[in-house]
Amino acid sequence: MADFNKVLTPGDYENGELNVVIEIPTGSNHKIEWDRKHACFMLDRVEPIAFAKPCNYGFIPQTLDEDGDELDVLMITDQPLTTGIWMKARILGVMKFVDGGEVDDKIICVPADDRNNGDLYQTLEDLPKQILKQIEYHFNHYKDLKKPGSTEVKAFEDLKSAKKVIEASIKRYVEAHPELKVKKNIESAVNDAKDAISDTIEGVKKAVKNATK
Ligand SMILES: [Mg+2]
Repeated sequence: MADFNKVLTPGDYENGELNVVIEIPTGSNHKIEWDRKHACFMLDRVEPIAFAKPCNYGFIPQTLDEDGDELDVLMITDQPLTTGIWMKARILGVMKFVDGGEVDDKIICVPADDRNNGDLYQTLEDLPKQILKQIEYHFNHYKDLKKPGSTEVKAFEDLKSAKKVIEASIKRYVEAHPELKVKKNIESAVNDAKDAISDTIEGVKKAVKNATK
């Protein structure tokens, strides 16, 4: 299996698009998690069936949330997605969430290209209210049989706020992976050099054109 943190970037989040890897399908009570150490999925635990997931659950590659894991995603689709696929996603917003005193925000997304509903969901307000109510209820209560009151949904916030959370998580990941920082610096130096070369070529072309007038 590919190591998603090596083969995928977080995606073009500044333009509202993300790369997302799916861990848990909608309706499953299997807490399937990306095991970054072994680069494969593992079943961390079986949750009570009363707390099956109200939407698909996954993560953004090359991100690091405050809980030490990749930044989580809630992916809303009509039918359950499969564990292990990756997809392009449109960011709708963020669910601000605390688990046992630790910040554990979830980015809320839909598929980037949905020809079934004609890309109906562009913002959080476009979602049926009942979906967000179910998500809020689920995350406020899914640990109640073990540790009641340990989780709390703080708020649902818009795209702008989601981008801030994503940006901070990418920064955290890059800081924890110095080799990526070097790679990014080299890439941007190469791009700068390419721009400089193409500017020079354009300049020469103009000069030749003017000289032959
Ligand atoms: Mg998390």
